[in-house]
Amino acid sequence: MNRIEQDMLISLNPATGEEVGRLPITPVDQIPAVVATARAAQPAWGQLSLQQRADQMRPFGDALVAAAEEVGTLLTREMGKPLAEGIGEAKHCGSSLGETLDELIEALTPEPMDDDSVSSTLVFDPLGVCAGITPWNFPLSMPHWTVIPALMAGNSVVLKPSEKTPLVAQAYADLLMPMLPEGVLQVIHGDGTQGKALVKADVDLIAFTGSRATGAHILESAGGGLKRVILELGGKDPLIVLDDANLEAAAKFAAMNSFRNAGQVCVSTERIYVQEPVAEKFQQLLCEAATTMQVGDGCVEGTEVGPMIDGGQKQHVEQQVEKAVSDGAEVVYRGEDIGGNFFPLTVLADCQESMDVIREETFGPVACVLKVGDDAEAIERANNTPYGLGAAVFGSSERAHDIARQLTAGMVGINKGCGGASGTPWVGAKQSGYGYHSGRDGHRQFAQLRVISEMRKK
Ligand code: NAD
Repeated sequence: MNRIEQDMLISLNPATGEEVGRLPITPVDQIPAVVATARAAQPAWGQLSLQQRADQMRPFGDALVAAAEEVGTLLTREMGKPLAEGIGEAKHCGSSLGETLDELIEALTPEPMDDDSVSSTLVFDPLGVCAGITPWNFPLSMPHWTVIPALMAGNSVVLKPSEKTPLVAQAYADLLMPMLPEGVLQVIHGDGTQGKALVKADVDLIAFTGSRATGAHILESAGGGLKRVILELGGKDPLIVLDDANLEAAAKFAAMNSFRNAGQVCVSTERIYVQEPVAEKFQQLLCEAATTMQVGDGCVEGTEVGPMIDGGQKQHVEQQVEKAVSDGAEVVYRGEDIGGNFFPLTVLADCQESMDVIREETFGPVACVLKVGDDAEAIERANNTPYGLGAAVFGSSERAHDIARQLTAGMVGINKGCGGASGTPWVGAKQSGYGYHSGRDGHRQFAQLRVISEMRKK
């Protein structure tokens, strides 16, 4: 856990416990003034054309790519993921910026819509001040996918990154801020206390990515002022493995998607429903795939899985696994325990729907296997959760498509992970999302839609 010392946030490397750096915490009583600065800066920014706003931000892409090694290394030291993934996250945000800005211009450009008698135009105006509140597990991508669309829609932004990864978020903002007029993007630091104060302040839109519990709290708090909210929340993604699936591919995917980022991914595979006839073979292949994955300090060459973000997260995972085992689950694979904040890769068999490890988000490197009978049972059990972020189905295409149409998740991958083609939204169903990001309709949620119309001339 990062430490707080005399109003400073001390960022600790989760792999080593060493201090990575420190930043001043924003006093809560200063947050209204920060928001007032954002409000004062917004009108001039909002009056620029989409093209002008994009032109100002475009050089940021190259700047981030040029700094990717440095920023990505900081990300790994602060958050723990392997260096290639830390640098990759920075590079990807930078190299895709041009395409993202073009997509945003297209999404937010006024759109004509006529019928026989009325001519109308849909226009997408700024909402005002956007509060961006983000988590630690993708500590660059999450601020990026919040800040860029909010700015392009003509809003000013106050970003409150996770207290667990403040340095890398600040490094991101330090590269972008010089390209923007003063006050258009500001960063405040702190934990839920600062987050709550920002939600309560005079903001028009709260774009939040984080846990379901915090999302529910924000929705309640924003309700009094009927503030706009976009909530991208947690998941409990199922993977269904059918008896006609390519088992090697399914097991490889299951290992990668359960253990990547030490399982600290909103669309991690957290429940694996395997049809009885192939369950033993699949489980054996999954365990074999797990043995090949190297756990260690993300800064060390060859590491594929880093530590948990902190001791609290490790304890949360440990408790779920211990309880599941005491309730009858069998540990069929457990990797080497190297101590510290590292959690050994774990495969659990004979899990039950009633276990916390199946009901609650785990967010750790644990693959849980449950045997199922026919397709209908697999669908029913996969849907038996309040979450609905991603899902995956491995099996013959027609059968898998049929199942995918019946799953109550926002994104379903067939013989792959859940993310769609570029330009598709990132969307959660049920309690995994309230509003969504990306794609034409996701981008438009950062703007106020207005309809302007007149009678058509005959
Ligand atoms: P979290 O909800 O604990 O914290 C997220 C952010 O909210 C942090 O900046 C935190 O300081 C702030 N916060 C905490 N309490 C607050 C409050 N009452 N009011 C306002 N802000 C508050 O989540 P986390 O542990 O940082 O991140 C992990 C969670 O994020 C997981 O549930 C994961 O699934 C989810 N997530 C979802 C997506 C998605 O796209 N749906 C992506 C990444 C992570």
